[in-house]
Amino acid sequence: MNIGFVGLGKMGSAMARNLLRAGQAVSVYNRSREKAEPLKAEGARVADSPADAARDAEAVFTMLPDDRAVGEVVFGDQGIASALENGAAHISSSTISVAFAKKLAQKHSAKGQTYISAPVFGRPEAAEKKQLLVIPGGKPEAVQRFRPLFDAIGRRTFEAGAEPWHANAIKLCGNFMIASMLETFSEAFAALRKAKVDHHQFFEVMSELFGSPVYKNYGGAIANEKFEPAGFELKLGLKDLRQANEFANEVDAIMPFASILRDHFISAIAHGQEKMDWSSIALVSVRNVGLDG
Ligand code: NAP
Repeated sequence: MNIGFVGLGKMGSAMARNLLRAGQAVSVYNRSREKAEPLKAEGARVADSPADAARDAEAVFTMLPDDRAVGEVVFGDQGIASALENGAAHISSSTISVAFAKKLAQKHSAKGQTYISAPVFGRPEAAEKKQLLVIPGGKPEAVQRFRPLFDAIGRRTFEAGAEPWHANAIKLCGNFMIASMLETFSEAFAALRKAKVDHHQFFEVMSELFGSPVYKNYGGAIANEKFEPAGFELKLGLKDLRQANEFANEVDAIMPFASILRDHFISAIAHGQEKMDWSSIALVSVRNVGLDG
């Protein structure tokens, strides 16, 4: 298939590489062109604009930070929507808001284009090893048509239903749970460290108890205070918590813990942590108990 891929950051470059490895013809575009060059060596065509990446493509992925960036790349000058053919699809894998996913679906549909939300779980290392969990949401026939692309970037594909925004709601609630785990680990570690209890031993026990790579990887990062280089920047974590809170508001649900987490992320950014990994949220708890952080 002819595929476009826009946004070659930590996640996007690995995902585009796996599409190439699966034998797809991929045109890549990144705002800073140098990030596209390594993929050229692996067989990608380097496009000059998002519209150029979308030209003649059956589907174009976007993997960009937030609603604003996706809006610029899709609807701006030389945007994807201006070049995508009738029936071709925009597949948004970025973690965007539920409200914006609804807007994308409506605007693409008005142009005769298909829209699929396909957010992913997993960090850049998982993306590189094709270990992502991929959650496509969209019209079933469209999701089926592009299923080989989802299977090419992840270890398992979970279909979220006919409404694209359902996939974004699943992703935001999932990230809320990961952030909650980061917070509980942080508070427990800070208390144990303050009491001079062996927090590394605690980490071993919890890894065994919960048996999840998510607990093991993030727990290890917090136990060893290794927050750089960032796999997922803390400022993007704040974006996701804000979006989870907005989603809860829209559906008259309450997620009180999401508000607390959002405030702790704001506090972390006030202490200069925006480019650190989001697991550095642990430093808020460290500071709260009066240890150095
Ligand atoms: P990233 O490393 O910061 O990459 C972002 C990419 O978007 C860069 O290539 C950047 O281009 C481009 N970009 C930013 N603003 C732009 C704009 N206004 N117009 C055009 N291009 C723009 O981010 P990431 O970690 O790959 O995350 C991408 C998305 O995936 C986010 O929605 C994030 O929440 C989600 N996600 C991340 C992870 C993770 O662990 N990192 C996991 C799952 C989902 P430049 O090179 O020019 O700056």
